[in-house]
Amino acid sequence: MTSTATGPDAGHDAGTPDPRTMARLAEILAFDTVSRNSNLACIDWARAHMEAHGASCRLDFNADRTKANLLATFGEGPGGIVLSGHVDVVPVDGQPWTVDPFALTVKDARAYGRGACDMKGFDAVVMGHVPDYAAAAAGGEPIHVAFTYDEEQGCLGIPKLIEAMAAWGVKPRGALIGEPTSMRLVSAHKGGYVWRCRVTGKAAHSSLTHEAVNAIEYAARIIARIQDISDRERTAGLRVAGFDVPFTTISTNLFSGGNGPNIVPALAEFMFDYRYVPGFEPATIIDDLRALAAELEPRMKAIEPSAGIAFLPVNHIPALNAGPQDDVYRLVHGLLPDKTVEKVAYGTEASFFERYGVPSVVCGPGSIAQAHKADEFVALDQLAACDRMIDGLLGALARKAV
Ligand SMILES: [Zn+2]
Repeated sequence: MTSTATGPDAGHDAGTPDPRTMARLAEILAFDTVSRNSNLACIDWARAHMEAHGASCRLDFNADRTKANLLATFGEGPGGIVLSGHVDVVPVDGQPWTVDPFALTVKDARAYGRGACDMKGFDAVVMGHVPDYAAAAAGGEPIHVAFTYDEEQGCLGIPKLIEAMAAWGVKPRGALIGEPTSMRLVSAHKGGYVWRCRVTGKAAHSSLTHEAVNAIEYAARIIARIQDISDRERTAGLRVAGFDVPFTTISTNLFSGGNGPNIVPALAEFMFDYRYVPGFEPATIIDDLRALAAELEPRMKAIEPSAGIAFLPVNHIPALNAGPQDDVYRLVHGLLPDKTVEKVAYGTEASFFERYGVPSVVCGPGSIAQAHKADEFVALDQLAACDRMIDGLLGALARKAV
């Protein structure tokens, strides 16, 4: 790959994607990779194409070997850039689709299909450029492609891939995650933490409260503290400019407990989540709640020794916080015509790479507004803009050889 002018897409206008991208998009949309299904057919397809163009591929399977993460490497040596996308998509059940969600439909300068926007459009651009990677990697550092499973389940696949990469000794110097950002650079997002709290008390007839430990009442004390923390962060917490909601939020979102109106409840469970700004230490919240639980438990255990309050982590997506100090930020930002840099509320796999020590940014075709909907689409000019970004990236990497 030398320059766009002599590349395989030469001669196409600015709004028209590389024909290779469109061909790969038609293929990848046809795999029904809704997260509940196996992704192995799709991964095999990607692997075969990349191996045919000189990649060495490594797979990291889930526990029952129904899904895999794929890491393909072109070229050799340390560092390099990883282009990363998830291949799973959200379900179409109950949505009023007017086109086949698992086939490519092109009309009105848009490409329709489940995942066209989130994020098989980017995956297709990455796959479309596979024939160019080996030459660009000859510039001196490898080009990696990562495809993951279960992103739509709460980024469940990527931590496994990062673990595997650490075991394989693969640590790129930068990561580009092509979630739909309308081809703007997203440098930061909030972290998200979901917890389940289980309060175990002791049941009794409601006329015998002195013999009981009321799980709902103790749960309520924890929940009241969660509301206090929410108020504190809103009024006096860390502010990070650039976010729509520039502070950390926390709320209790699900509750169950109790058996009847005249029975003191022995069990209460609730779930809460917090979305924290980069720079906020997420452990402070759970530490605060655990300290409150430790204050409450002696009174509970005085009546019933097995009573107590437990906090169980359900899911955690770290915060992302890239900046101009990062090579990959400058590299990608330099390639984009639209210089807007955004901070967003949704989580991505980028922050898992960052936590691994790989600076990461998010930039990809399509608008998040079109993700997950019926008749999901990506505009063709967005795919074309992503083609140009990847062409530019490969050109920059290839020039390192000179
Ligand atoms: Zn996505």
